Amino acid sequence: MLKQWWKRRIQPKKDLNWFLQHPDMLEERGHALRIAGIYLLVGFLWILVSDVLLFALFPNPQTYHMAQSFKGWLYVLVTSATLYGLIRWRMQVLVQAAQTISAAYAELQATHEELVTTETELRYQKDLAEHIVDDAPSIIVLWSLDGSIEELNPYGQTLLEADASGDNLRMEDLLGESITSLRERLQTSTAVRSELGRWQVPSGRSVFVLWNSRQLSDSHRGEPRVISVGTDITERRELEQRLHRLAYYDALTQLPNRQLIHDVMDQWITLQKPFTLVVLDMDHFQDINDTLGHDAGDAFLEHAAQQLTAITSGHDVLGRIGGDEFGFLWFNVTDAEVIQRRIDRVFDVFGAWAVGDHEFMMTFSAGAACYPDHGQNSSDLFKNCDTALNDAKKHGRGRCKLYSQDIQDRNVAAIRMSSAIRRALENQEFELYYQPYMDLESQTIIGAEALIRWPQPDGGFISPPDFVPLAEDTGQIYDIDRWVIQEALNEMQYLTASGFGQLFLSINVSSRTVNQPEALEDLANTISNSPVNPQRVILEVTETALLDTFSAAPASLQRLSDLGVHLALDDFGTGYSSLEYISNWPIKMIKLDRSFINNIGLDEKKEAVITSVLQLAASLQYTVVAEGIETEEQWKFLTLQGCRRGQGFLFHRPLPKDQWHRLVATELLSQ
Ligand code: C2E
Ligand code: MG
Ligand code: MG
Repeated sequence: MLKQWWKRRIQPKKDLNWFLQHPDMLEERGHALRIAGIYLLVGFLWILVSDVLLFALFPNPQTYHMAQSFKGWLYVLVTSATLYGLIRWRMQVLVQAAQTISAAYAELQATHEELVTTETELRYQKDLAEHIVDDAPSIIVLWSLDGSIEELNPYGQTLLEADASGDNLRMEDLLGESITSLRERLQTSTAVRSELGRWQVPSGRSVFVLWNSRQLSDSHRGEPRVISVGTDITERRELEQRLHRLAYYDALTQLPNRQLIHDVMDQWITLQKPFTLVVLDMDHFQDINDTLGHDAGDAFLEHAAQQLTAITSGHDVLGRIGGDEFGFLWFNVTDAEVIQRRIDRVFDVFGAWAVGDHEFMMTFSAGAACYPDHGQNSSDLFKNCDTALNDAKKHGRGRCKLYSQDIQDRNVAAIRMSSAIRRALENQEFELYYQPYMDLESQTIIGAEALIRWPQPDGGFISPPDFVPLAEDTGQIYDIDRWVIQEALNEMQYLTASGFGQLFLSINVSSRTVNQPEALEDLANTISNSPVNPQRVILEVTETALLDTFSAAPASLQRLSDLGVHLALDDFGTGYSSLEYISNWPIKMIKLDRSFINNIGLDEKKEAVITSVLQLAASLQYTVVAEGIETEEQWKFLTLQGCRRGQGFLFHRPLPKDQWHRLVATELLSQ
């Protein structure tokens, strides 16, 4: 039991807390007095009781005396043991206390070291935070949710031209967002990103800032505080704006470019807003560039852009969509009459444009397509607008065409026809027919006009008026004309070899070829390099060839004339050219158009015109050939009026080569 008590008292490891709860255990005077007290009590009891007890036990004085000695020893022994026990107990308590203190000290030491490390870390973090706030190239604002700014870092002060307290700033304006809305957003998420804020600094510059805000958890100062970090994206924004301008605006006129027009159309289409796209193409712009140079061309385009801008209003958009092409988007306009009225207004804007001594008449051709009727997307609308524009150009420039299914159908047919022409050229499908030229008085054959024919599998033909104009548009006419010339020259060689070298051969040349210097040069070379007698070659050109560009004959045409080739003006009387006008040209022959001959015997006025043309031509020494003589009456009238040459169904229809050869052989050999 004693052992247990001892164990309970001494053995359990006592920690610092135990000692703190039992301060008496380490109280030195009390314990010393207690030990001395115990010793005093034991000694007192021993002295008081031992002798009486001993005397009772050993009444014999001799044994009593001996026992007295033993009692003395026993006393020393017992007191020694007691002292030993008491001192050991106290020492154990002391040792334990010392150990506990030592352990607590070690713990304290470790905690202290930890605290020192934490303090160093905290100091480092503080330095870092201060460094970031002071030196980071970001605006850092500490502000209360009532909108008042508490601190603004140096970078922010410089950028926003403000002081540290941000007195001249309003947080709402900086963020570009109301405090209430930000406050709401901060309640649902810890960090929020604001829309782009735009702030005009006192010096007038605009600064664009992207903000990230976070509510601070520490709110011991009362009103919750927010830290907002702003990145200055002004430069990036300016760069973006510059790139945007480059990508979407034309550098010369500053007008929206084709891409932007596309985008606006896409937006309107998404909103299903009706509109009309109009593409304006300047007629003969290339002439300005060629005659006056590109600077003048640019000046003209700028001028045109200004004129067009002046008549653009409301939601309408004007853009430059290509070299000499401008585009209008007319919002909410799809009525054909309204479109035409507006186009008339646009055309009225332009007139003469003078640069230096030169004056140009500015005219435009235009095509228009409406959403939703003429296309469901911007690409289709552009495509259809171009189709309408090309149609307008084909029908004579300076006009506008609104897209229609008709135009599209014609276009598709034209594309098919154009591929068929290409195949026909490759496969040598074309043929030349020959319509004899007659001496009207003697009714003898003096030559023939070569007329192209395009035989079809069904045995019929596609006649020249059905494919020549298209071939002129596509440029295939150069190849056709080259083939015709070569074939006609071969025919002349054959006729010469067959003894009919005196016959003329008249060849039709397209106005395109006449107006294409290289093509005309090529033609002149082909004739001069061939063994045929150029004096027997007649080249028929139409009035349009002369009216189109030139006021004087191109050098190659003069060269052909010098070679001895006769140049004839075909279809005379259908256009506006006068005999006086063509006197500038090396033309010595005119072919009076069938539309005049038709009226012989029907219209006296027309007859009078024929008579006076024949008289004038004779006095100017032009040879006149009458086309399309179908009746005896026409023939007689013409002969009577002194017309010496003619062709027509009355004499012969255009004949295939073999029939023409047979005719020549029979008619000419019999003479
Ligand atoms: P063009 O040069 O005025 O040719 C005369 C046209 O009148 C021919 O039509 C001919 O067949 C037709 N013709 C001749 N006599 C009469 C007549 O008495 N009555 C009627 N109703 N018609 C008559 P075609 O062959 O259809 O040629 C039409 C036009 O096509 C030609 O008019 C010419 O401008 C062009 N053309 C024909 N062949 C060629 C060619 O090889 N090259 C080029 N570039 N154009 C050609
Ligand atoms: Mg002809
Ligand atoms: Mg003709």
